[in-house]
Amino acid sequence: MNPTPMAEPMAQDQPNVRCALPAVLLIDDEPFQLKILGRQFANLGFHQQERCSDAHAAMARIANEPDSFGLIACDLHMPQMDGVEVVRRLSELGYRGALVLISGEDTRVLQTAERLARAQSLQVLGAVSKPVPMPILRELLAPLLTTADKLPSSAVPAPPRHGEPQIDAATLALAIAHGELVVHFQPKVSLKGARLLGVEALVRWQRPQGELVAPDRFIGLAEEHGLIDALTNDVLARALAEVRRWSDRALPLQVAVNVSTLSLTDQQFPDRVLLALQTAGVLAPRLVLEITESQLLQQPVRTLDVLTRLRLKRVSLSIDDFGTGHSSLTQLHDLPFGELKLDRSFVTGAHANPSLQAIVGPTLDMARQLGLHTVAEGVETLEDWRWLQASGCEAAQGWFVGRPMPAERLLGWLAEWETRRGALME
Ligand code: C2E
Ligand code: MG
Ligand code: MG
Repeated sequence: MNPTPMAEPMAQDQPNVRCALPAVLLIDDEPFQLKILGRQFANLGFHQQERCSDAHAAMARIANEPDSFGLIACDLHMPQMDGVEVVRRLSELGYRGALVLISGEDTRVLQTAERLARAQSLQVLGAVSKPVPMPILRELLAPLLTTADKLPSSAVPAPPRHGEPQIDAATLALAIAHGELVVHFQPKVSLKGARLLGVEALVRWQRPQGELVAPDRFIGLAEEHGLIDALTNDVLARALAEVRRWSDRALPLQVAVNVSTLSLTDQQFPDRVLLALQTAGVLAPRLVLEITESQLLQQPVRTLDVLTRLRLKRVSLSIDDFGTGHSSLTQLHDLPFGELKLDRSFVTGAHANPSLQAIVGPTLDMARQLGLHTVAEGVETLEDWRWLQASGCEAAQGWFVGRPMPAERLLGWLAEWETRRGALME
């Protein structure tokens, strides 16, 4: 299969090349549109480009060399493969570069595809309708344009997000060893009585320079460089120590800790968890381990043993980010999970979005039938709160309730929540 039926000369043949910009793959089934896009990207300095009018051929190209492009611009309406499928394939293929989504007219499809792509941790720079105005394209690509000016060309292939500096594994390893990781806690409350059920522990990296680095900038790096176990141990110990402190102050709480499936392939993991519980003096049912649905699907059998042993030790298990992995609940129901967390891409704005409602409603019904406790993530507004309540979802987490916060702020938040709770219950 020829992946570049319309290939134009590459950067090496052109004068004025800005090598620091990543290679771009343009995908559109309409040859004319493809040509226009090619020109537009070239005008912005993206001379290293391949153009592809067949989505399957483009995916085959990525499958062979996932890191050969730092940027993909893709049309969403193609006869061979729709945009949602393209997004799913890119995620499955481990594509790590940036993505621009382009669509003819249907902004709803564009928004859904963008939402899905973000939910699958693809680096979406934006979604834009055709014909693409140059100022908008320039604005979308600005993070790549500005970073490329500062970095040596060798550093560019995987574009950093939002122009942020890259983090390397050695620095991260030192940070873990020096105790620079901190844990913030986000409340999870019942939708019926608005009562505090527990908190989710979310790691951040407090750099000595003052910057608080978000987890999605270093979890993947930790997984790739064998640092994830050290990170999980650290977060687990910190989270359980806080649970113990709250419990000593008459606030018995459950704490959820996020776990990478890499840790679940380690047969020693259940024993390490048990030791952490004993060290902190916390009972096993107070701990929930969250595992993201998409990771779980990649190795369900290898993890089953460890998951079952954790459950036997009375640790609770939760399926995180449900909806992003395209599994059906029946695929997951043999696994020993007690809770399902709906990904926020299906929750935020659901009250006014019939497409999201069509997904969330049946998922909640099915989860209930399977006996899973349901939690909605990303509840940002009173309207979404009310809609979820009416849909029978059991618990909520999100900015409407409270943002992740340092442990010492939780009691203050709780006092404030009790006041808001009264109003919510009226
Ligand atoms: P997650 O486990 O799904 O955590 C929820 C994320 O959604 C958190 O982002 C939280 O701050 C954010 N969030 C909560 N409510 C809202 C809302 O109403 N609106 C919006 N827009 N966002 C909301 P955060 O803290 O940046 O964490 C991102 C992801 O990093 C987590 O997603 C989790 O998968 C991962 N992560 C965090 N801590 C750890 C950890 O200790 N270990 C591992 N393996 N992964 C972690
Ligand atoms: Mg989570
Ligand atoms: Mg989640």
